[in-house]
Parts: sequence; structure tokens; C-alpha cells
Amino acid sequence: MSFGEMTDLPRTLREDLDSRFSLYSTGVSARQEDPDGTVKLRFTLGDGAKVEGVLLSDGDGRRTACISSQAGCAMGCVFCKTGSLGFLRNLNSAEIVEQFLHLRREAAGPDREGPELANVVFMGMGEPLLNLPELRRALGIITDPGGLGLSKRRITLSTAGIIRGIRDLADNGPEVRLAVSLTAADEALRRALMPVTAANPLPRLKEALASYQEKAGRRITLEAVLLGGINTRPRDAAALADFARGLDVAVNLIPWNPAEGLSFEGRPLREPAPAEAEAFSRELARRGLTVTRRLRKGLKISGACGQLGELSVDP
Ligand code: SF4
Repeated sequence: MSFGEMTDLPRTLREDLDSRFSLYSTGVSARQEDPDGTVKLRFTLGDGAKVEGVLLSDGDGRRTACISSQAGCAMGCVFCKTGSLGFLRNLNSAEIVEQFLHLRREAAGPDREGPELANVVFMGMGEPLLNLPELRRALGIITDPGGLGLSKRRITLSTAGIIRGIRDLADNGPEVRLAVSLTAADEALRRALMPVTAANPLPRLKEALASYQEKAGRRITLEAVLLGGINTRPRDAAALADFARGLDVAVNLIPWNPAEGLSFEGRPLREPAPAEAEAFSRELARRGLTVTRRLRKGLKISGACGQLGELSVDP
């Protein structure tokens, strides 16, 4: 939407408004398109900080917007490019809603005849549960029938496992879908891969998920980023199955997407070999878990999961 499109206003007024005011506090400062159809937009915020959002298409032409909740991220997951940038600041609700609008416009295309967004996932830059008040405000606007009108069931919030935030979400909503980036269910390995584990240990995380599930009555997705030679052993599958026991979960496997400069214990990270990922998936299924594999999208434009943040987020 722009002042120019408000054709019920006189042209001179529209031009005057356009020259003096802006409808958006954010702008799209770069656009990259992958041959697989994934589009990554870089947003420049009012203070010059930068975040990224991604528009993904599935095989049936449905579009999913992946939105950022923070500029940078303080969580420091070793396998994630955003984590290597450090944390700049929380986004405000307007900056979150505007990403939705920019990506919706991208999905609609120049003739405005493209599909509506089918899903929104908060899996971009940042830890959404550490910005819950602004996220709530933004989701209120995105889901309000008098606002942007997207069903809450079409929204997924992905957390690295912030226990306080999961409890807050269970008590106070909004009733969106929850995904937890688990990646390793062995406490020591997870601590090394995801430092957030130190303050949010796995047994307490499981308790919080159980109580969330009791209140929300919804299946939770456990995401596991598969890191070649690190968390794909049969004993890692066994630990994951142990963690899942008693919870209603589906496991989403995400083969690690290469991002430069990331290492673990002095060795560069590597993608899992196809057979390695397949064996891990089979082992989980053998243990009775529902397993899905994330389609790899946007690799060539560093728009895939864990790759966001090629540029500094700083103003
Ligand atoms: S995976 Fe998510 S929580 Fe972890 S560093 Fe990246 S953006 Fe932050």
C-alpha cells in the first residue's frame, strides 16, 4: 500500500502526503531470488539496522513467509549464521508486521494476482520468545479479522527452548503452533551446540513442553538440525526418542545448510551425507516417532534455515 494507491484521495493530496510522510518504517533494501523460487528480502529498519525475511514456495504453490523477530540473535547456536552475528536489538511490532506486508506483496507479484500467504513462520533471525510482548502485538494485528486476518493455526513460532517464554505462551497465548529447535537431546552435546541449554536444561524444557501441551492441546514440532558426524549417531536418535516420550510431537529433520565460518570443536561443520541423514531418520521412525524432512530451499541465496545474516545487522 502506498499513498499513490489511495485513489479516493485527490491526486495533489496524494502527492503531498507521499513527499512528506512514509507509510512504512522499514524498506526493502535488497532482493535475491533462488532458481528454486525462494526469495530473500533484506529489510533496512528506521535506524539503519538490517534483518532478512524469506518467501518459500512448496510444490503446490503455497507460499510461506519466514520472518525475523530480532536484529541478530544472542543465542549463539554454533550451527547458525545469525548466531555468529551477535545481538543488536528486539524488533518492534511495526517492524514485524511490515515484514509480513513486504513478503505478502512479494507473494502477490507485480500484478497482485499471486497467492495469499498460506503460512507464517517465525524462524528468521532472532529468538521470538525473548521478544514476546512485541511479537504478541504484531500477531494481534496479523491475525485480527479486522486487521490482516491470518488464522493463528497458520502461524508457527520456533524457539531455541526458552522455558519462561514457553510457560508464558501457554498461559497467555497467542494460540499459535510451537516448534522447538532441539537438535540434540543429550544435555552435554546440546550445551555445546546451543549455549541456551545452560539456563534452560532439557529436563525442565520437557516439563515446560508437557505443561504447554496440556494447556494448548496441540502437537509440538521438535526440529533437529543434522550436523554431519556430530548429532546423527544411533545414540543421538535414542536420546531424541527418550526426550519425545510422553509428548505429542512430530520431528522435523533439517540437514545443516552450509554457512561460511561456522565450526564446532575446532572443525568446520559439514552437511550430513544423504545416507547418514536417512539412517538417522529411519532410526527415529523405528523408535515410533513421526518424522518429516525439511525441503532444502533457498540454498543458493543463503536464504535457507540457519543461513540468514550474510551482512552485518548493524546500522
Ligand atoms: S538458530 Fe535461532 S536461536 Fe539459534 S542462533 Fe540462530 S536465530 Fe538464534
